[in-house]
Order: sequence, then structure tokens, then C-alpha cells
Amino acid sequence: MTFLFDQTVFGPVISRRLGVSLGINLLPNNRKWCNFDCLYCECGWNPLGNQMKVQLPTRAEVAEKLEVKLQEMQQAGQLPDVITFAGNGEPTMHPDFVAIMDDTLALRGRYCPQARISVLSNATMLHKPGIVGALRKVDQNILKLDSGLTDTLLFLNRPTHPVTAEGIATLIKQFEGRCIIQTLFVRGSFQGRKVDNTTQEELQAWIRLVREAGPSMVMIYTIDRDTPARDMHKVPVEELQLIAREVEALGIPVQISG
Ligand code: SF4
Repeated sequence: MTFLFDQTVFGPVISRRLGVSLGINLLPNNRKWCNFDCLYCECGWNPLGNQMKVQLPTRAEVAEKLEVKLQEMQQAGQLPDVITFAGNGEPTMHPDFVAIMDDTLALRGRYCPQARISVLSNATMLHKPGIVGALRKVDQNILKLDSGLTDTLLFLNRPTHPVTAEGIATLIKQFEGRCIIQTLFVRGSFQGRKVDNTTQEELQAWIRLVREAGPSMVMIYTIDRDTPARDMHKVPVEELQLIAREVEALGIPVQISG
């Protein structure tokens, strides 16, 4: 079953790990819009005609909805611990991402200065200095790097434009450690081809790029919900722990969600 966010500002969701968490979906509320089309994406496949014009929330709408929600939360005495940009696709593709981030920082300052701001991004827009500047201002700049091998990355993430694993790592490096690399480990097959980003060859290449990119932390996880490619399987948490140890040996802390 496909999982789509049907609102621009969603939550709050309360969890032990994150506390009170508010989400911002800068993508359409009725479909996915992303320049990747990952085999495991919880939002399902990109609809056919992904290049067609999509209805995005405007900068003013996002600011207004966020402010209304923060006012409600203030009145209820429960302000957010974290505000996360995630949702139905890639948030940095929004043409006003930079300005929206400035608005969000201002609202955070006004209502909940203690709250962290997180962005979950696939790192494909980091060739744009404005996007890099905006991501430098957030507390958790979480960037996807699912493989150190371009061939696997192209198969698993299915980008709509050419990218390489090395190219993404180089772009991540410009944050000089003010970023988190997030990697999803998975095994399965699609259209008759196997995929497994946990093999020794894969891990060697991935760890090499993690070292080069130099994040302050690595987050690793595996699939949790239905995936658009049917034959996708979880990697057991014990194996994620072994992978984590290899990264920790570089002096980089790892967070696992199993
Ligand atoms: S980058 Fe994220 S939103 Fe885009 S296809 Fe992959 S999992 Fe889905």
C-alpha cells in the first residue's frame, strides 16, 4: 500500500526517539514528486508523466500553515522538539525551498527556539549554492547515499538524470561535517536483476565514500513498509549492527533504526 502525506504541515507525532515532531511536506498532497524513484520508496512509484506540472504549496501557504499549527501547539502547551522536512518526494526540488527555510527558521525562533530543524534529502540538488546555504542553516541535514557503486545506486534509486555515487559524495563533502549520511540497506530483485547493497564489495565502496564525504553521523536503516518493487527484503538488525561497527571504526557515530 502506498503511503502519501495528505497535508503540507502534518503531525505532531510523538515518539520516544524524536519527542514531539512536526512534519513539512513541500510536495503535492496527492502524489509523489521526486527526481529519484527508489525501488523501496514508501510513497510508491512516481506517477507516469512525472515531468508534468505539479501543484506545490506556495511559500506563503507553507508559512501560514506552519504558523497556525505552532499557535495551536503553543495553546495546547506542547511545542515541537523537531520540525522535519520530508513528505511525498524531494523537498529541495521546491523552487522556493531557500525562502521557505528562512521563513521556517524565523517561525522556529518566534515560537519554539529549542526545536531542531531536520531535512531529509536525496542530495541531488547540492550543485545549487542556494540549496547548500539553506541546508547549512539546519540542525540535521540528512543526506541519502545508498551505495558507493554508481551502478547499484542507479538501479536502486532510479534517478531521472545522470548521477554518480562519487559525485554525490563530493557534493556532501562541501558541508565539512555539518551533515548526516542516511543509507537504506535492502536485498531483493527487480525486473530479473538482483540488488543487495550489503555485500562486501558494496560495503567497501560505500565506506570509502562515507569516509571521503566526512559526515558527523551516519544513519542506517532498512525497509519498514510496503515497497513499490515487490521483491524487496529487510536486512536483519544484527547485520545493520555489523555494518555500523565498520563505520564507527572510522570514528563516525552511527544510529540504527531496524
Ligand atoms: S528519494 Fe525518497 S522520496 Fe524520492 S524516491 Fe527515493 S525514497 Fe522516495
